[in-house]
Amino acid sequence: MPAAAKSPPAEKPAAAPAPGVGLSAVQRALRKLGLLRDIDFALYLPMRYEDETRVVRLADVRDGETAQIEAVVTASEVAFRPRRQLIVNVDDGSDTCQLRFFNFYPSQQKQLEVGVRVRVRGELRGGFIGRTMMHPTVKAAGTQLPEALTPVYSTIAGLAQPVLRREVRAGLARAVLDETLPADAAPTGAWDLRRALNFLHYPAPDVSMATLEDHSHPAWQRLKADELLAQQLSQLQARRARAAQRAPVLDAAASGDSLHRELLAVLPFALTGAQQRVGVEIARDLARALPMHRLLQGDVGSGKTVVAALAAARCIDAGHQCALMAPTEILAAQHFGKLVGWLAPLLAERGLRVAWLTGSQKKKERDTMAAAVESGEAALVIGTHAVISEKVRFRNLALAIIDEQHRFGVAQRLALRGKAAGDLEPHLLMMSATPIPRTLAMSYYADLDVSTLDELPPGRTPIVTRLVAEHRRDEVIDRIQAQLAQGRQVYWVCPLIEESEAVDLRNATATRDELAEALGNGVGVGLLHSRMPTAEKQAVMESFTANRLQVLVSTTVIEVGVDVPNASLMVIEHAERFGLSQLHQLRGRVGRGAAASACVLLYAPNEGGRVGEAARARLKAMAETGDGFEIARRDLEIRGPGEFLGARQSGAPLLRFADLTTDVLLLGWARELAPRMLDRHPALAAAHVDRWLGSKAEYLKA
Ligand code: ADP
Ligand code: MG
Repeated sequence: MPAAAKSPPAEKPAAAPAPGVGLSAVQRALRKLGLLRDIDFALYLPMRYEDETRVVRLADVRDGETAQIEAVVTASEVAFRPRRQLIVNVDDGSDTCQLRFFNFYPSQQKQLEVGVRVRVRGELRGGFIGRTMMHPTVKAAGTQLPEALTPVYSTIAGLAQPVLRREVRAGLARAVLDETLPADAAPTGAWDLRRALNFLHYPAPDVSMATLEDHSHPAWQRLKADELLAQQLSQLQARRARAAQRAPVLDAAASGDSLHRELLAVLPFALTGAQQRVGVEIARDLARALPMHRLLQGDVGSGKTVVAALAAARCIDAGHQCALMAPTEILAAQHFGKLVGWLAPLLAERGLRVAWLTGSQKKKERDTMAAAVESGEAALVIGTHAVISEKVRFRNLALAIIDEQHRFGVAQRLALRGKAAGDLEPHLLMMSATPIPRTLAMSYYADLDVSTLDELPPGRTPIVTRLVAEHRRDEVIDRIQAQLAQGRQVYWVCPLIEESEAVDLRNATATRDELAEALGNGVGVGLLHSRMPTAEKQAVMESFTANRLQVLVSTTVIEVGVDVPNASLMVIEHAERFGLSQLHQLRGRVGRGAAASACVLLYAPNEGGRVGEAARARLKAMAETGDGFEIARRDLEIRGPGEFLGARQSGAPLLRFADLTTDVLLLGWARELAPRMLDRHPALAAAHVDRWLGSKAEYLKA
């Protein structure tokens, strides 16, 4: 653009250049690593260390050891055997060895001229050609030895280790590391941050390597304490920011609770103690002008849906609208079916109705529904993401319920919140069948109130879980037949074999055909697949619910929420490929009625005849426990919090240093300190959060 080129540089806006423009390759790489501010560099800790503090005698080095020696070059040649390589012989007086370089610069060759004394560091290997170091690092001999271990940082292409090391050292030197902990608040014996960071980047050579590796060293303790504190502070800030917001007061006592009472009366069962308790917790929240922000967690089958329905009834009793959003259309349809069955007749008496909103809907239907939502006639709105579409306007939304909340991102939760009238926020009830282990709840969800359904409805028999090797598949057919003979139904879940849905579909179709043949006439075998049109999916699901189909072969679309109490056997093919929580969710599709239920995990050893270690741990956990909390705990152990939470789920930055399984004491310390620090030392608290979370903290306030 010539016009732009002519304009003088001074006219260019100085601030906010387009991201990445005008940056050197190194700067871009540093950015990719999240290294922007000095403090980011300072907090970028080594993944391991090299010991360059000592020079040892070659004769004392055992084969396989990494060592630093100083030796004189006795021979140097470029040879072709068979590849071009630089071969250098060195002698340190105690022994000799050979250095080999496949890629080398002329400068390196010069550095290794015969007669020169060099300092060489590398792994010494034995072998028939004599002792060798492949691609050792070479420096001039006799220079001063470093006093500290040399840090090695995790890096990416385009950013050489020495460059990164230099940048980190410079950032560390520049970073402002003033104390942010109030004087009386540091854990006893804690190091100050500057000392801890300097040590972790450049540890003294006599340090116990084990304490650096397992992060038990006092320097690590200080960092982990700081990190956990930053997390607690930012969540507490978010919570307090929310305290300034207002929500509609949904007070049953004031507005009458007729719908709520009538719903209780039409339910075909009595509530469990846990359901009653949680109902009270929710009612208490709804009656306040503060927006509820509650996570309802309960194992699969614990009966979350009815708790949601009762909360919806309270909301409608108070004259407001309630929205219920589920991640998939099948699940939303199940909720719709259930809630319509319970509530629609009661709503109709009041001139109200339930609206249904999904992406696959015909425009005309959707418009009709949207109109009912806007007029307020639809007191209850159920659907998928379509519920938060911009076009949907509520008359007076007061309660938003999100099922399987971990399937939704932060943005979607925020969009729901923006749907209330005026300046008000809706109350938010999030439901999850993946229980969050206590330590995670305390850290990542510190700004949430958590209600737990820790009691299953009565009359459930525990699900027996069996691991069966793929080659014993025939036995599974026998099991299926036994269940069918008792009038029961069966799920068969096919694995995700390929990225390609087409291949999955082909595989699932083949399994359906195979089962239909094996089970013979008179047994209806249906197929459910995510590629099917919604109407067809629903038709299959309805047939299965009505027991017109006895066996349902499906890809993982039935993973969440599907509820057919007569199903008593779940077969999961290639179970070794599924995640632990996913397996547990799938298993939870059976054992919903009074019949004894079973889950068969078919697994196929890989070519080596083995199942991978993590897969084995998952299968073992499944076989050993049916308790969702124990499953979640093991899942966390196997995967670590990052993957466990999923980047989308939390919106909170993941902990880099602290480990919630081992740092419970530090977490307790941080939780205790955070409120006191916000009250008494707000400036320190702000500085601390900024140091650790920087721009990310803004996001958390949302
Ligand atoms: P989840 O917590 O997995 O969403 P659901 O809400 O789907 O569980 O409930 C599982 C099954 O248990 C459903 O068939 C539901 O109707 C039934 N149920 C829920 N609460 C009770 C109860 N208190 N007594 C008996 N059955 C119940
Ligand atoms: Mg559910």
